[in-house]
Amino acid sequence: MGGIDPMSTKASADALVLGGGPSALAIAAALSQEELSVEVLSVNDPTEPWPYTYGIWGEELDALGLGHLLGHRWVNTVSFFGEGDSEPTSKANQPINHGRDYGLFDKHKLQMHWFNQCQKASVNWNRGLAAELDINDAHSTVTTSNGAKLKARLVIDATGYEPVFLKSQKNDPIAVQTCYGIVGKFNKPPVEEGQFVLMDYRCDHLSSKEKEEPPTFLYAMDMGKGQFFLEETSLGLAPPLTIEKLRSRLNKRLDHRGLEIISLEHEELGIFLPMNMPVPDLKQPILGFGGSAAMVHPASGYMVGGLIRRAPGLAKAIANSMKDKNATPATIALEGWANLWPIELRRKQALYQFGLEKLMRFTEPQLRDFFTSFFSLPSKEWYGFLTNTLSLNDLIKAMVRMFAVAPWNVRWGLMGMQGRELRLLWNFLKPPN
Ligand SMILES: Cc1cc2nc3c(=O)[nH]c(=O)nc-3n(C[C@H](O)[C@H](O)[C@H](O)COP(=O)(O)OP(=O)(O)OC[C@H]3O[C@@H](n4cnc5c(N)ncnc54)[C@H](O)[C@@H]3O)c2cc1C
Repeated sequence: MGGIDPMSTKASADALVLGGGPSALAIAAALSQEELSVEVLSVNDPTEPWPYTYGIWGEELDALGLGHLLGHRWVNTVSFFGEGDSEPTSKANQPINHGRDYGLFDKHKLQMHWFNQCQKASVNWNRGLAAELDINDAHSTVTTSNGAKLKARLVIDATGYEPVFLKSQKNDPIAVQTCYGIVGKFNKPPVEEGQFVLMDYRCDHLSSKEKEEPPTFLYAMDMGKGQFFLEETSLGLAPPLTIEKLRSRLNKRLDHRGLEIISLEHEELGIFLPMNMPVPDLKQPILGFGGSAAMVHPASGYMVGGLIRRAPGLAKAIANSMKDKNATPATIALEGWANLWPIELRRKQALYQFGLEKLMRFTEPQLRDFFTSFFSLPSKEWYGFLTNTLSLNDLIKAMVRMFAVAPWNVRWGLMGMQGRELRLLWNFLKPPN
């Protein structure tokens, strides 16, 4: 991948994708399959390893015919929503069995899946920092920090959660998921061998004062060869929970269960994931994709499944609108936004954001009861909710059923409107944009 000559100007392409993460590669690959000419501009080399490892439900990837991209796959997938106590066989320690496979991507394979498609279709890679954007009726021009210029009929900003050019409607504080994770070997298995734990909300290691603080859970898995990955996670909070707090929570959890770290192979520090970013302004003359375009699932924080599912349809819509040689960057972007954020998805997004707002206010026992009820829904419903694959009608049905099966402490929490909750619910009836 070449750095671009300073002060040079490249001939206009159909599309210019900004970024070098999963979203940029996914959309660049999809656009290239539509036989459009594609340039990518990113700070990093597109083959440089990504910093994070991505998880996904096995069935979600199988449905896309891409199950071979997983590096790990677990059949024994559970969560704990009891309070926990010192008696391992007591009800308070019993897991809920999810009955669905969960996997971790082999991130190199995922990256190469998209990269190789791009290579075959002659996508052009440019290394540099996008710094300025200028748009006229014929094309958009991005100038890099060293003065080189790249032109295209459409610019797609895939530069992550703090996009370089995209504008969003920012008013509310953003709920942020924070995690502190370790990979290592322990004096005894922290989770059952061969097991994946989506959420362990047991809290018997906390004092009564600590139980009044924002709840956190353990996300954990057996990575094989005696290695385990453990991550103390805060689902989403504004302002976010600090990494120090999460680290101390994880240490307490380990101490309480008599677990000692024998070797620490990796420590994940300072991970922040914005969960409820507003849908971007859908009238702007550039497009976004991925983190920049608020595609992260507000309830789960996941996105990669959505990137794989959505990129081909979006690329097709862009290619169609480019068939009109007189189409301006603004009209092409408009078509793209209509494909990416149709009204049904904006309504669903409003419901998810409303739901997250509720969960952020829940106490420890309310959260544990909430999730017990949630995972008692028919498997198709909770899975469809978490993967964002339910239709709007089915999502509403799942939420109503959830309300019906939940105990009263959860129902009261769901009914009482506080802070911005009413406004978020209003967004469901009349989504902004
Ligand atoms: C810790 C963590 C764990 C996650 N786990 C999962 C998971 O298990 N499953 C899942 O589905 N999702 C997960 N996600 C959510 C989501 O899939 C990731 O955040 C994903 O990395 C977002 O991809 P992206 O390409 O939109 O943004 P990023 O990965 O942030 O990539 C942005 C890219 O843009 C480049 N860039 C930035 N500014 C410029 C500029 N001015 N000019 C040129 N290039 C620029 C950057 O160098 C980078 O390459 C997780 C997120 C986080 C933070």
